[in-house]
Amino acid sequence: MSLFDRIGFIGLRKNNSKCTSCGTCARVCPMDIREVNLEEEKRNVLTQDCMLCFKCIENCPEDDALKATFLTKSFFHSSRKGLFLRQDD
Ligand code: SF4
Ligand code: SF4
Repeated sequence: MSLFDRIGFIGLRKNNSKCTSCGTCARVCPMDIREVNLEEEKRNVLTQDCMLCFKCIENCPEDDALKATFLTKSFFHSSRKGLFLRQDD
């Protein structure tokens, strides 16, 4: 059983109206997943090879362009402010 099957309640949601197609999510992904960057239709961009590290969310520079969800509840989202705070660490 894949990680994806075991954690089926978790989603990686993209809001295309907030995405600027900067490509950062693809560049930082340790699994070289491009769908988060390229997907323009679907909201859930979680793929089978995703290891749920959420580096894409952590590094996305746009507010709420990416969100991690458990069932329908968001528990982590991208934010410009958060990105700048993390860069100061
Ligand atoms: S990092 Fe965020 S804004 Fe940039 S392409 Fe990915 S989802 Fe879009
Ligand atoms: S959560 Fe991690 S593995 Fe999954 S798409 Fe984002 S950066 Fe890649």
